[in-house]
Order: sequence, then structure tokens, then C-alpha cells
Amino acid sequence: MTKIEESIYSWRKKYYEEIQLSHPPRPIAGTLRYEDFLALSRPFFSSIDESDTFYVNLYRSIEFSSLNSHLASKVVVMHKAGYDLGSQMVESGVIKSLDDALLALPLYRIGLLDVITEKLDYMKLNIYECISCYGIPNINRTLCDFEAGVLQGILTKLYGSCTIHEKYCFGTGYSFCGFEAFFE
Ligand SMILES: [Zn+2]
Repeated sequence: MTKIEESIYSWRKKYYEEIQLSHPPRPIAGTLRYEDFLALSRPFFSSIDESDTFYVNLYRSIEFSSLNSHLASKVVVMHKAGYDLGSQMVESGVIKSLDDALLALPLYRIGLLDVITEKLDYMKLNIYECISCYGIPNINRTLCDFEAGVLQGILTKLYGSCTIHEKYCFGTGYSFCGFEAFFE
């Protein structure tokens, strides 16, 4: 097993444990503080690059400010930014199939991608150690508009038009991001 596969395997076990629970493993936290947005060391990414936390914190400072200044714009802008990146990955040939996406997302340091369910009109995809939310307290809202956009861009260019819904997130008290894709 490769290092990526080993990490995905152990995160997937945690995912199966947590979705059995009747409520999220972490309760809703109080006020949202900047310190809470600073990244914990991401186990897989820090093991391949000890500077990982610095890059993540650069991204998190942008995310925190946009979340606090204008939520509606944050959701739209981050989603669009992700969509453009995901589309571009396919158009430039970095991603030619869903298997390539399993390598591209870690390469861009977005997170570890895991495909849970793959059907013609529906997919379930998880992201582990997500750049947007890994380690953030439960703030009672999903945070990963950027990642949802990346997945939408990739899947739309590979398979056709789809919508993405983030069901689980660190922001809602879980230890992974869980997305659903609905194809038209
Ligand atoms: Zn998330």
C-alpha cells in the first residue's frame, strides 16, 4: 500500500465510525476566533512536507477574513474559484479520469480525495485533511465551498453538469468532509 492509500484507509475507518453516531463527535463551539482557524498539523501532508502548516495558514487567513466580512460573497467567490481550478485541471490535461483526481487533489494540497459511492447519477466523495477545514471547531456550518467548487469543476468537465452538496465537515463537528454529487 502507498502512503496515500494507507492514510485514506485509516481516515475512511474514522468516517464509517462517525457516520454511525447520532450526533457529531464535537459539540458546537462558542465564538469563532482567528486562532481557531490556524491549522493543526495535517498528518499526511506534514509527513511529506514539514512546511505544510505555513501554507495552510496562508490560505486560512484569507478564508477567515472572507467568512467574517461577507459570508454570502465568501460562499460564491470561493466556490467559483474552486470551480475554475477544477475545470482547468481537466482542460489542461492534469486530470483525464477520476483516478487522476485522486492524485491531483493531494498534489495541489487541497486534501486526500476518497470516492465512496460511484453511480451514473450520484456520487459520494470524501476529502480528508482538507485545506479549508481540517482541525477547525464545530461552528455549525460547512466551510468547504472552495472544495465543493473544485469537485464540481472536475466532475462537470469529466461527466457533465452536476451540483455538489457538502453534508459533513469539520465546521459541523466531523473529522472529514463529505460531499454528494448529483448529475442532471
Ligand atoms: Zn469541510
